[in-house]
Amino acid sequence: MHPYRDDKPPRPGPSVPIIRIKGGEQRLFIVLSPAMIGYWTHWGGRATVPCTTKALGCAGCHARPPWPMRWKGYLHALCLVKHYDCFIELTPVAAEMLTLQIDNGVSLRGLKMEIRRSPGTNGRLKLIVHGKPTLLKDLPEPKDPMISLDKLWGLNQREENDGQAT
Ligand SMILES: [Zn+2]
Repeated sequence: MHPYRDDKPPRPGPSVPIIRIKGGEQRLFIVLSPAMIGYWTHWGGRATVPCTTKALGCAGCHARPPWPMRWKGYLHALCLVKHYDCFIELTPVAAEMLTLQIDNGVSLRGLKMEIRRSPGTNGRLKLIVHGKPTLLKDLPEPKDPMISLDKLWGLNQREENDGQAT
């Protein structure tokens, strides 16, 4: 028998917030993730669901017509305005802006960047890299966005663990 043990009492909502920059907003971050973490998702009409690939029976891929696919990039970062760590959600265009401002294969960890979105509901994201801070060793450890995404996407971690136990 493999009873599901979890010593942390569950808390509502993601423990590390997922940040989407709103129209007219502008924020400064220090990136903690060494590299971009990207996921393909489907827009199911009411919510974003992860694509689990057609081969593995993804409901969005098999729907008629298939649900629209969207790529979302995530970076674990320190918000320099609000002083907490978060996952920044980036569009493909914003992620590409980041790629264009750094050398190939260079770690993103410690990078100071500014993200702003032009006013309006469909404002464009702009990402500006401001270089590395000096205190790289004092930065907190990077976290995997899955700790928050599983809650965002409504995945049931417990079912997965039960599955592995058999
Ligand atoms: Zn899919």
